[in-house]
Formats: sequence, C-alpha cells, structure tokens
Amino acid sequence: MSPETRVCQNCKNQFGIDSEDFDFYSKIQVPPPTWCPDCRNLRRMLWREERALYKDTCKLCGKAIITIHAPDGPFIVYCRECYKSDKWDPLTYGRAYDFNKPFFLQYRELMEAVPRPALTGNNLVNSEFTQSCESVKNCYYVFWSYFSENAENCHSLLFSKDSYDCYTVDNSEQVYDSLHCDRLYKVRSGYFSDDCLDSSFIYDCMGCSDCFGCINLRKQKYCLWNEKLPKEKYFERVKYWDLGSYAKLQEAKEKFHSLYLSLPHRFAHVVNSQNVTGDIIRDTKDCKVCFSTLDGVQHCKYIYSGGLNLKDSWDVSAGGDSSELLYEIYGVIGHAIRCFFSVGGNNCRETWYSDWANNSSYLFGCISLKNKQYCVLNKQYAKEEYETLISKIKRHMNEMPYTDTRGRIYNFGEFFPPDLSAYAYNESFAFSLYPKTKEEVLTEGWQWREPQKRQYQITILPKDLPDHISDAKNSITEEVIGCEHSGTCNEQCTTAFRITPNELNFYRRMNIALPRICPNCRNAERRKWRNNFTLWHRNCMCNQKNHFHKDTPCPNEFETTFSPKKPEIIYCLDCYKAEYL
Ligand SMILES: [Zn+2]
Ligand SMILES: [Zn+2]
Ligand SMILES: [Zn+2]
Ligand SMILES: [Zn+2]
Repeated sequence: MSPETRVCQNCKNQFGIDSEDFDFYSKIQVPPPTWCPDCRNLRRMLWREERALYKDTCKLCGKAIITIHAPDGPFIVYCRECYKSDKWDPLTYGRAYDFNKPFFLQYRELMEAVPRPALTGNNLVNSEFTQSCESVKNCYYVFWSYFSENAENCHSLLFSKDSYDCYTVDNSEQVYDSLHCDRLYKVRSGYFSDDCLDSSFIYDCMGCSDCFGCINLRKQKYCLWNEKLPKEKYFERVKYWDLGSYAKLQEAKEKFHSLYLSLPHRFAHVVNSQNVTGDIIRDTKDCKVCFSTLDGVQHCKYIYSGGLNLKDSWDVSAGGDSSELLYEIYGVIGHAIRCFFSVGGNNCRETWYSDWANNSSYLFGCISLKNKQYCVLNKQYAKEEYETLISKIKRHMNEMPYTDTRGRIYNFGEFFPPDLSAYAYNESFAFSLYPKTKEEVLTEGWQWREPQKRQYQITILPKDLPDHISDAKNSITEEVIGCEHSGTCNEQCTTAFRITPNELNFYRRMNIALPRICPNCRNAERRKWRNNFTLWHRNCMCNQKNHFHKDTPCPNEFETTFSPKKPEIIYCLDCYKAEYL
C-alpha cells in the first residue's frame, strides 16, 4: 500500500503510515493504528508502573509488603513468593466472554479479580527491594535490571556490578551517577560514554582514561576540561576537583554543564549500526525511529528500549531477548514470538491482550497465566473452540468498541485504553517521559494519584550534612535525611531518604560527597541528560570554514531528538567527525 497521512485519535496531529508499516500490519493481520507513534508509546507506558512504591500486606499470607499497587486501589495483591507459588490458580478466575459488553471492560474486571504481584522479578538473591529484575544479587532499589550485583538506586543496569545511581549502564564496574554507557570502570558521572576508566564528568567520550570534565574525546588520557595535559600536571591539577566535597562536586557539575553547552554534539548517539534513525542505538541495523536500541536489533520500527536480538517488530517499549514479530507490547522478553497488545511476558507465543504471561501460547485477554495454551479471559478452551471464539471476539471488538470519556474509540487493533490501566498517570512510565500536570492528566480523562502523605521524622537537614565524605560518621546511616526538593518538584520525591551502610562504603571508596536529594529526585536529574524520544527534522548548525561546506553553513539535515527549543549546538555526522574523530 502507498504511504498515507492520518490524524491521531489522541493528540489530533497528523502522522504518516508508510508502505513498510502497512506491510507489517498485513503480515501480522492487524488494522493500521489510529494513534500516532508518540501517543502509542505513551499509551503503552501508561500500562507500566515506574517507581511509585507503597506499603501494604499480602492478601494471601498476610506479611508486610512493598508494592507497586496503591493500597486503596481495587486490586488483590500477593507478595512475590505467594504470587509465584501454586497456592492459587489463575484459571479459577476465568470467565466466559460476554458479547454484551466491550472487551476492554471485561478485561478490566478480570484485572480486579486475578491477584497481582506486589513486585515482580526472577532469580533474585538478597534483592527483596527491587522491581522487574532478573538474576540480580545484593541489589536495593533497583529497577528493570539484569545479571547485576551490588547495586543501589539503578534503572536498567545490565551485566554490571558495584554501581550506584545508574540509568542504562552495561558491562560496567564501580560506576556512579551515569547514563547510557557501556564498559566503564571506576567512572563518576559518565554520560553517553563507552570504554572509559578512572574518569569523572565525561559526555560522549570513547576509550578514555584519566579524564575529568571532558566532552567528545576519543582515546585520550590526562585531559582536564578538554585540555590535554602532561601526566604529572594532570594529577596535580585534578586534585582541586575533589568530588568527596559537596561544594567541589557542585562546582564541577556547573562547569561541566557550561562546557557541554559551549561545544557541538552529534545529532544522535549511534554506534556500530547501519541504516537507522533514532537515538541511543548500538549494534543495530535497518531500524527506523528507534530509541535505546542495543545489541542485535534488526528490521524494527518504533522501538523504545529494545535489545538482544529483537527482530521484525514494531511498537515495542521494553522488549527483546531473541524475540520477533512483536507489536504494541511493553516488557515482553525471552524468545517471544508473535505477541501483540500485551504487557509483561516471558517466553510466549501468539498472545493477544495479555499481561504477565509466562511460558504460554495462544492466549487472548489473559492475566498471569503460566504454561497454558488456548485461553480467553483466563478460561481454558480446546484449540478449535479457541480459534472460533477469538475470531468472533475480534469482530465483536469492532461492533461494540470501548469508548472513553473523551470519545476515543478502542476497536480491535488498539492497545489497552489508558483510563483502564492499573496505574495512575503519575505512577507510570509515561509520567517521566511525557510529564504532565494533574490538570492536564484529568482533562485527558486519565487517572492521577495524589502523592502519598509522607510522615518521615527527618533527623538531619541536607544543609547540615558534612561537606566532605571523609567527615561522614558511620552513624549517618541511622539518620533520616531530608531531600532538598522536599516534595515540591513533581518528580516522585520521597521527601526524605537514608544512606545504607553499603552505600556509605561506596561513597567512601569512590570519594563522592553524600547526596542531598532523594533517589527518585537523583534519577530524574540524571535523566535530564537524555532527550525525550521524539524526532525533529533539523539542519546542521555548523559554519566552520575548514569543513567541506567551506564559506556556507552546512547543508546537511537529519532527524534528531534535540528539539529546536534546546540550547545545544547540533552537528551532522560529517561535521562532528571533522571536529572530533
Ligand atoms: Zn498522537
Ligand atoms: Zn526528593
Ligand atoms: Zn554539518
Ligand atoms: Zn561543518
């Protein structure tokens, strides 16, 4: 089919559907989308919790739990152990499909009946306080991380250890406050940098060691604020930047940020990839509009966090690990094939509109099933019955679609409606990527949850912490420290925080001043180094006369995540290479 322009049901902006998109939709036999790519990602993200955690009790064993579900919500929540046990059977909540009610309403009713996990995760060792992690050891307040150990306050840590405050860091050790990096060793505040060691405050540096406050460097040593120094001079001058002192740490942060704004940046972070558009892409080929796409991703489009041999998939937010033919999914991994409109799944095939499916195939509208086939709304059918029933349901979804309060229509081929999510907007991943105020969220007809009233007895204010880590006593781990933001920032601020004994040791070992803001605020601050996942068509901003374009400004154009409103200087790859590579 030839490309078409349509109007998004949600934001009312125009969006394009290309021939390759139509080919994909017809291959998997779904109608073309009615929401634009950005709104589709937002809608998926609304169906997954981010970092809002609550205290409650397990409804099966009664033990105290930390959970992703607000206690005043309608859900039945089991602790991790009970949820995984065979003390209950999700099929007992199965029900016949009701052709007098929209599918999505029936699905929401099932959500309120089937017990939900307080926290998810597999193969955890001494890592109670983690969410959605796989094979992690000695981790605390760690989210969506895999094969990692001795870490705290991290998100998407992969094959890494002894690291704190990281966001998407792979194959690294002894790393602090870093984002989108690979293979770092002993690095503090590294952003978009790979293969670096013994360095601090680096942005887009590759293969560097002993560098401080550097940007756009390749295979350098002994550089301070992008100035190459003799070895002795470097060590002499870097002594001033003692990050064990909070005052120096702040000074370094500010200086680094102004250096960052004064230098050009490449329009996209793309490494070892061919024929791609998007940002933060590594070892990927033939992928368009992909973000945070790593390690063997091929022939995909609209991927927002995907990796490890994800193939032939469209509209994936968090997915991969040898999976293919996924469409409109969030958090589906582990050799998944043909999974559609689903959230949370491992090793599944041919699942539609399902949540937390494990080792299962041929499911439609099911929740928390393991090792099951041919089920609809958690009810088991014979193969032929199942096939007849789901074609009837697909028709019924179009004859009696779900309509939300704003008049958006959800036929077969739409992902779950945002208003039926188990999470309020400000508890979900959508909130950090597409921030909105309470009023905006309520105007959309979506859910908002008032932040929990925290009643921490703050025992020390951030301004009263010792300036230098060497002056921090062991007793600091007993204090409840007030967060500098004190809940005023709309960043899921917890208002107060503690320093754990392991964390204190880490700060001492790495010579890092005690933080003054809570882990959630630190996470939000770190993420400011990254752009949102929207592409803007822009021109190269270079007018350097020694480049190929000589006396005229560079004519190159590109798709970039740097919006025209941002202050950064953005170069095309030719100009960036001419300057830095
Ligand atoms: Zn839209
Ligand atoms: Zn805070
Ligand atoms: Zn250029
Ligand atoms: Zn140029």
